[in-house]
Parts: sequence; C-alpha cells; structure tokens
Amino acid sequence: MKWASYHNHTTFSDGAEAPRDFLAFAEAAGVGHLGFADHYYKASPEATTAPDWALQLDAVEIYFDTIAELKATAPATLEIVTGLEFDWLDHSAAWLAPVAADPRLDYTIGSVHFVGSDSIDLTRTYWEKLSTDEINAVTRRYWKTVCEMVSSQCFDIAGHLDLVKKFDFYPTEDMSDVIAETLDAIADTHMTVELNTAGWRKDCRACYPTEAILRECLRRDIPVTLSSDAHQAHLVAADFDRGADLLARVGYTHIAQFRQRERFLVPLVR
Ligand SMILES: [Zn+2]
Ligand SMILES: [Zn+2]
Repeated sequence: MKWASYHNHTTFSDGAEAPRDFLAFAEAAGVGHLGFADHYYKASPEATTAPDWALQLDAVEIYFDTIAELKATAPATLEIVTGLEFDWLDHSAAWLAPVAADPRLDYTIGSVHFVGSDSIDLTRTYWEKLSTDEINAVTRRYWKTVCEMVSSQCFDIAGHLDLVKKFDFYPTEDMSDVIAETLDAIADTHMTVELNTAGWRKDCRACYPTEAILRECLRRDIPVTLSSDAHQAHLVAADFDRGADLLARVGYTHIAQFRQRERFLVPLVR
C-alpha cells in the first residue's frame, strides 16, 4: 500500500516550502496520494484579510490553480489531491460552508485551534497561566467546540481531534461524556478522523487522538486517515509506520482516502 498524506502545509499558509517541493519527498517516502491542506481562516463574513499564518483570502484562486497545475504535471505514480484545513470559529458555518463546498476540493479538514478567542495551540505560556478550574473549563469548551464543528457538516475530516492536550496540560475532571458526544456526532455525520502524527513531535509526546479515543472511533466504525500535519516537506509521511502499527493494534484494517469529496477505504497493508 502506498501512503495517502493529506494534512500538509505549504508557503500558501505557514509551511516552509511550496507545494511542488513536496513531490520528491512524497515519492521517496512511498506516498501515492498527496494532498495539501493549507490553513483557511476567515474571522467573519465581512473579513477580507487573513492572519499571516493562513492562506490569504485573495490568494485562494492561485492556491487552487497551483495545485491543479501540479495535478496535471505530477508523475503517474503520485496522485495530487486538493484540500484545505478550515479554522472552525464559533458560529462560522454560515460563511465557511460555501468555501468548503468548492468543487475543486477533494476533501476538507475541520480543525479547532481557538476556544472562544483563545488560541489553545500557540504557546505553552497560555496553559501555564491557567488554574486547574480554568484548564477543566477550557478543555470542556474545546470539546464542545469540536462537537459544533462536526455538527456543522461542512467538513470531511476532523483534524487533530484532541489537540487540546498539545502542551501536556490535562483536566482533572472526567471529559468522557463530552468526548463520547463528539464521537457520536462524528459517526452520525459520517466524518473521518485523522491519526495525526504531529502530536508525537510536541510536548504531549502522543499522537492525536490518543489510542483510547481511536478505540472508541473504531467501536463506532469511524474511518481514519493517517496524517503528519507537515509544515516541512521532509515530514510528509513522518511516523507513518508508527501510526499504521498503532492503527493495526487498535484493530483498524482499512484506511480512508478521498477524491472529489468521495471517501473510499483501502486495506491497511504494507
Ligand atoms: Zn491544525
Ligand atoms: Zn495543520
């Protein structure tokens, strides 16, 4: 099986290299399906600019054109697919849904990086300043926000499902009710979860989501992709062997792939 790698960031958002620079690394790493998912952030329906770490709103057409050109010129052994990683903000479905429905997208990733106006994955300092009660409240609200993102039905893949643990701060309260509610919503809306290997490279030293949550996903028949959240081309399939081993141990036999918003399952064999 050749890998599918869908969660990659380029210079169109906060990645280090251009889309074209991923090709050689993807081929060397055994990737047969390469997708780009630069950050799409739009703060409000009226917003005309995006922060510098996101795709500029006036560059969306260039983004699609650049990837379309790669699709047309990539070697036959490497299929290029087009995605975006959408930043879910409270009540943002109204203005994100039309963008997420663009027919040029092969798949969409919905991600929560903000709880209210707080960026939860930017700095460790943010977490260090929180009391135990606040960590409980932020974590609970994070999961509620993910659940709202899922329920919007705008997106195909739930990005780094438990990103809230990135800096290794954990709630003292049991969150299993709100996690179960989120996973039930993912199953009900036929979304896919990604095993995102970037967590192994962060303070938490654990992939997103944890093995326990992956087991709960499998119990609900939620399909998975493998992704590395690469911001550098050489990380396009980072820790995929480790991720595939974990998926197999959990009991997954197939992996999800996407083309033109259609999901299909491929046997997880190497
Ligand atoms: Zn993300
Ligand atoms: Zn990302």
